[in-house]
Amino acid sequence: MRFFLGTHIASWLWDDNPRLDGVALFVSRNRLAKRVTPFPAARRDWALDSGGFTELKEHGGWRLSPEEYAAEVRRYREQLGRLLWAAPQDWMCEPWVIYGGTHNGQRFAGTQEARGVLPGEPNDFTAAVRMHQEFTVQNYLELQRIAPDLPWIPVLQGWTLADYERCAQMYADAGVDLTAAPVVGLGSVCRRQATEEIARIVDTFHARGLNLHGFGVKTDGLGDYGDRLVSADSMAWSFGARREPKLSGCTHRAKNCANCPEWALQWRQRVLARMANATPRQLAFDLI
Ligand SMILES: [Zn+2]
Repeated sequence: MRFFLGTHIASWLWDDNPRLDGVALFVSRNRLAKRVTPFPAARRDWALDSGGFTELKEHGGWRLSPEEYAAEVRRYREQLGRLLWAAPQDWMCEPWVIYGGTHNGQRFAGTQEARGVLPGEPNDFTAAVRMHQEFTVQNYLELQRIAPDLPWIPVLQGWTLADYERCAQMYADAGVDLTAAPVVGLGSVCRRQATEEIARIVDTFHARGLNLHGFGVKTDGLGDYGDRLVSADSMAWSFGARREPKLSGCTHRAKNCANCPEWALQWRQRVLARMANATPRQLAFDLI
């Protein structure tokens, strides 16, 4: 499986740091979209996160049209290059994303308005999940229509296993053969606590022959189901580094390594090593 190192520092894509060479990166649109000047050429392969979680959390829906998003992604691919795939403008299905309010100390806008639910009207969770799934599938079809040459991936969204199965059926009904897709994103799994439930969802679709990417996975869980994913990404290193003193060899001025490639690379090695130990039958890692 290929592990994408998530980073909030877009310049790692093009920095002349040989230690980063051969390390696949995962970068959010939120870290790229505001740049006006042309991007330098990327020096390593990468995949694009659409930043949907932040968009829905803060705005309760996508402010960007599929046409605008496709134009952005085209620019990334033409200027940066080495873009392996791009996530669509998907709709996460966590209850707190749908209903809004405070979760883990963070404010969520809620998607009532985007779903056309007026204040006081019934706001059924199952109906909301279904609508988020329809939005997600429609967006993928729309992006394929607007820019068929760009490397969009379909994303499965849902909350329960039955939801994910229904989402797969929506793709099938729309004529999309998920088993033929080089990568299928698995959304809304990363912020769950229950690793067993994630493993069950992963197992189900792995058994159907899908090439799954786990978005923002908990690295603890990778030992359990990492060998059934084709790829995963995480930027948990940065949160960890904020609470620790900087590495003894580091000469940067910042007090911690929250922005430090060396810390991120050492963390990545630990993740890959732990996965290798947990799943000895699966050793085809993309070690540098
Ligand atoms: Zn450092």
